[in-house]
Amino acid sequence: MKYDKDRVKESLTIEDIHKILKDLGSENNQWDQQGNPIYRTVCHNAAGGSYKLYYYHEAKQFHCYTECGDNFDVFELVIRAKSQKGINISFNQAIEYVAKIAGRTFGFGNRETYINNDLIDDWEWMGKFKKKKKIHIELPSFNETVLDVFVPYPHQLWLGEGISHKTLKEFEIGYYFRPHTEGITIPHRDLNNRLIGIRRRSMIKEEVDAGYKYMPLKVGNILYNHQTMMNLYGLHKTKNSIERFKKVLIFESEKSVLKCQDFYGESNFTCAVCSSNISNFHRDILLSLGVEEVFIALDKYRPPKEHETEEKYQQKLVEYQKKILKLAAKFTPYVRVYALWDYEGLLDYKDSPADKGKETLEELMRRKIEIGTDEGEFNGV
Ligand SMILES: [Zn+2]
Repeated sequence: MKYDKDRVKESLTIEDIHKILKDLGSENNQWDQQGNPIYRTVCHNAAGGSYKLYYYHEAKQFHCYTECGDNFDVFELVIRAKSQKGINISFNQAIEYVAKIAGRTFGFGNRETYINNDLIDDWEWMGKFKKKKKIHIELPSFNETVLDVFVPYPHQLWLGEGISHKTLKEFEIGYYFRPHTEGITIPHRDLNNRLIGIRRRSMIKEEVDAGYKYMPLKVGNILYNHQTMMNLYGLHKTKNSIERFKKVLIFESEKSVLKCQDFYGESNFTCAVCSSNISNFHRDILLSLGVEEVFIALDKYRPPKEHETEEKYQQKLVEYQKKILKLAAKFTPYVRVYALWDYEGLLDYKDSPADKGKETLEELMRRKIEIGTDEGEFNGV
């Protein structure tokens, strides 16, 4: 599937244009004698523009008959309108914005086809749900005494990211320092609070540069590793809220769970996969807690690489969205599933949705994308 901005533009109906203009601040429109819609001039006014912005559907062009006095397409209009509100967005963000409002969201397909269309009969649903009730897998646990080896103080790096002393202590975050091994220690516990592994956030530059930022910790001869695909980080602390709210938000990394502990305290309903994959075990653990809504909150995609063409990068973005759809599909037969996607440029590249604070996370949750059961047949543009 090829992503193509011209096809997005060509596919826009007058109704889509109405929706976009409404969102940009022209709540209604008028019509000229030829039947072209006329909107408020959102192009050069932050608010209250006069009806001097014409849209010519054949040409897919706008014309502002006052201040601007020129022609521009829908993407350019979005950029101008947003900048009037003090928000600078890129051309790509303008495309994403248009595609989202018009329901042409690339890899995520046409949103409207995903909403409320699961036709699973209640009994079948219950049957599947019951089957998922029992989790038989129990990972081996480690002796707790290893925790005494760690320096029980939080590292400045994470404090600096705004994670509180209290939370770092609650999650038993410490520090380990030996020749050739150094880093923030992150004990992993299962649902029943058993110590099943310890991961280390390396503080050795060479390791981090080589891509080994997070890895299992080795103390003496024991490697405190575990199958991350068989456990979700944070549940020993957050399972009660997850059961209470019947919701769960899945992050990639431990740190995001800690941040949400600060944002929400006892109401923290998050966990982390500690990779960018969601396994069937993960799904079954969450279903066993009775969740009815799942939010998939993976990190924002990487920036374009040097010499990577715009088209290539857009293809990669679509692939990333498809990957999220695949992960969502594990849950769609059972529960409502949403994906968070940063259409508005609220996050930096590779940020977790929790990295820019509580308000940003909630804004992303407000703009969540519902993923339905017919994933796989996306009508990408
Ligand atoms: Zn104008």
